Amino acid sequence: MTVHFDFDNSYARLGTAFHRPTVPSPVAAPHLLKVNRRLADALGLDADALGTAEGVGILAGNRLPAGAEPIAAAYAGHQFGNFVPQLGDGRAILLGEVVDREGLRRDVQLKGAGPTLFSRNGDGRAALGPVLREYLVSEAMAALKIPTTRALAAVATGEPVYRETALPGAVLTRVASSHIRVGTFQFFAARGDDAAVRKLADHVIDRHYPEAAGASNPYRAFLEGVCARQAELVARWMQIGFVHGVMNTDNMSVSGETIDYGPCAFLDAYDPATVFSSIDRNGRYAYANQARIANWNLARLAECLLPHLDPEENKAIEAAQEVLSGFAETFNAAYVDGFRAKIGLQTPQTEDAALIEDLLLRMAQHNADFTLTFRNLGKAAESAQADGPIRGLFADPAAYDGWAARWRQRLAAEPREPGERRAAMDAVNPAIIPRNHLVEEALAAAMAGDLAPFERLNEALAAPFEDRAEFADYAGLPPVPEAAYRTFCGT
Ligand code: AMP
Ligand code: MG
Repeated sequence: MTVHFDFDNSYARLGTAFHRPTVPSPVAAPHLLKVNRRLADALGLDADALGTAEGVGILAGNRLPAGAEPIAAAYAGHQFGNFVPQLGDGRAILLGEVVDREGLRRDVQLKGAGPTLFSRNGDGRAALGPVLREYLVSEAMAALKIPTTRALAAVATGEPVYRETALPGAVLTRVASSHIRVGTFQFFAARGDDAAVRKLADHVIDRHYPEAAGASNPYRAFLEGVCARQAELVARWMQIGFVHGVMNTDNMSVSGETIDYGPCAFLDAYDPATVFSSIDRNGRYAYANQARIANWNLARLAECLLPHLDPEENKAIEAAQEVLSGFAETFNAAYVDGFRAKIGLQTPQTEDAALIEDLLLRMAQHNADFTLTFRNLGKAAESAQADGPIRGLFADPAAYDGWAARWRQRLAAEPREPGERRAAMDAVNPAIIPRNHLVEEALAAAMAGDLAPFERLNEALAAPFEDRAEFADYAGLPPVPEAAYRTFCGT
């Protein structure tokens, strides 16, 4: 049995201005923790072969598969608003690209594969906890139908990594439609290398925005496309209570996928001011600030593209501003559309936005759990007798009653059958999300050598819209209300 990747490495072919050839550093004792069989299959890979000594050697970076052209990509980025002209893949190495069974080109990258030219003072490695965390959360996001990078495998290295303490090391095999970031454009723009920016933009248009190629100005159409996908992405995040936590420009993919699961987390009780990252002291990346920050990041991308939007600077700036000013409208439409579906409305009416805001405001004031409020709303939409569980989520149940009366009046104007409506609501309001306490529990067990809770949580998260009795313990409230859950960047 041999492991065969059908590589076609278009990013490597862009040339050495864009990356540095970098071979993964071997590890002492690679041990397979998890392989994503379904994803392996979608990529045309043999999951059994990935589990052999040869396969695990590849996933650990101890051997290179035929056709791989391993590289570390160059990029820059604004981190918490401060520009860093060179970041780059400091601990991730791209093995190459494969075209999946649906014809989609996808990067196969080892995260935690050892030092690169871009490692600065870092060790190029990743710890087991954050690797399994990214595995769980990115796969959960995919099952929630949110554009995201994926996890193909996790391998323990048998070596320690040193953070505040010594931790077990691991390598994640990440799959993405590409790893090109806003910060990749910034890397070249900051050096005044307009030719490289253009070459990169042409590559991205070809790969992610082929429809832009035929536009009168393809670069403007590309910028419009990125803005639209980011607006929709952030709206989707907010509709499942997701906080990315570190939306630096180097952590924003131009393909529109969620990327770089560091200090991300999910809301339990709805509070739009929620911040999880321990280093985000000013709430720059708070739940409710995510659209504004995405817009800010896109302005940084627009700056990189200015020379290509119009030869005259004034006109280029005008064009960029026109595109950027469309962001809020696209975001608001996606935000309201998604929440409209979550409360069971099918036919749009102008007062829907106010109805949604009223619910969210009451949820915030009365500490209502985000996921369970919406999940239980499906039952309540079917019958007013089913209001019990949802009322119990509000510190003052009357706050729900006041809203529900208004909501039921609005529902009366809807043509859909209650049963059909309930099914549609359950298809957008998950029963199970990777709640912080569940993820922490699974990771703590894994650190102690027991992967069973990780496996079980991963399985539950694979079908988040189903009520499955065997996973009922994952679908409840967290055991104690979290005062201030914190996640750490030292991943
Ligand atoms: P992140 O916070 O994961 O988005 O990473 C920001 C930058 O730090 C990127 O350039 C990473 O490659 C780099 N980096 C993060 N962790 C390490 C590490 N352990 N070793 C080397 N570089 C790292
Ligand atoms: Mg990053």
